[in-house]
Amino acid sequence: MNCDLLIIGSGPAAWSCALTARQRDLSVVVAAAESATGWLQKAERIDNYPGMPAVSGKDMLRIFRQQAEEAGAQVVSSLARQVQPLGDIYMTLCGNDIIESRAVVLAMGAARPKLLPGEEELIGQGVSWCGTCDGMFYRGKDVAVLSAWHGGIEEAEFLSRLCAKVDYYTMAAHDLPDERPYALHEGKPAELVRQEDKIIVKTDVSADAYDGVFIFRPAVSPAKLLPGLELEGAFIPVDRRMATNLPRVYAAGDCTGQPLQIAKAVGEGNIAAISAAEDLK
Ligand SMILES: Cc1cc2nc3c(=O)[nH]c(=O)nc-3n(C[C@H](O)[C@H](O)[C@H](O)COP(=O)(O)OP(=O)(O)OC[C@H]3O[C@@H](n4cnc5c(N)ncnc54)[C@H](O)[C@@H]3O)c2cc1C
Repeated sequence: MNCDLLIIGSGPAAWSCALTARQRDLSVVVAAAESATGWLQKAERIDNYPGMPAVSGKDMLRIFRQQAEEAGAQVVSSLARQVQPLGDIYMTLCGNDIIESRAVVLAMGAARPKLLPGEEELIGQGVSWCGTCDGMFYRGKDVAVLSAWHGGIEEAEFLSRLCAKVDYYTMAAHDLPDERPYALHEGKPAELVRQEDKIIVKTDVSADAYDGVFIFRPAVSPAKLLPGLELEGAFIPVDRRMATNLPRVYAAGDCTGQPLQIAKAVGEGNIAAISAAEDLK
């Protein structure tokens, strides 16, 4: 799939950016993960957004999204997992699809995944965040899937077709299908340890060895999403045009820092779209 602008996120910053980008005639794809990390979904009543008195977070997001879709933004309901520059374009892995775009807006909010002890050091050495990218290396082997959301189910099904054994660990409650080609493992993952050529998954009740471990969460830290992206603590520094340190990559909303407010997110999404349109001219 190709577009001028890929927007990563599904909050006020993303929908505002999508709307203005469409008005500037850019082709727009919004990677909107269907996940529970959307903070605004939980707000019962918002009283400080002009024109929408006493609106719930859910209703506000529905209205924002509908308006952006009616303006022609295309929505892909999957988590953006990795963005890679390739010449003048960016290739983004969204779910299991690659989206090519000329520019990218990061609007993923402020939620940051908390990694397991041992996880970061073992990435690429038996631990992976992407079944599609790395599954083939574990053909005929034993793997564990550690998942904090429903996104892990499809990955576990995919891995079950390749691997000799797949154990599924839940890191946060989510519904699982009744029929599963993988085994549900009890215990909550607490730590990963390398032991010779195996990875040990330690829980509060067990310690099991696997050839590979796949971990799925509803959020990706900005540094992992886009290598080379400059950060200030947990936030993405931007200039007044919402530009990051990378060419044609902008950021908007809570991910750029305080104040964490809807009106600020909407304003920054608008600026990011205008900047992208100017730079892509
Ligand atoms: C309970 C509560 C009440 C609040 N009340 C108010 C209020 O009254 N007024 C006010 O101004 N603010 C309020 N806020 C703050 C407000 O919700 C945030 O400032 C605002 O939602 C930020 O918008 P955003 O677009 O930057 O990010 P978010 O709204 O956090 O949206 C980001 C979205 O991107 C998605 N996402 C993340 N990573 C990826 C990825 N890699 N790929 C695809 N999608 C991804 C997430 O699932 C999420 O849905 C409240 C927050 C909470 C939690």
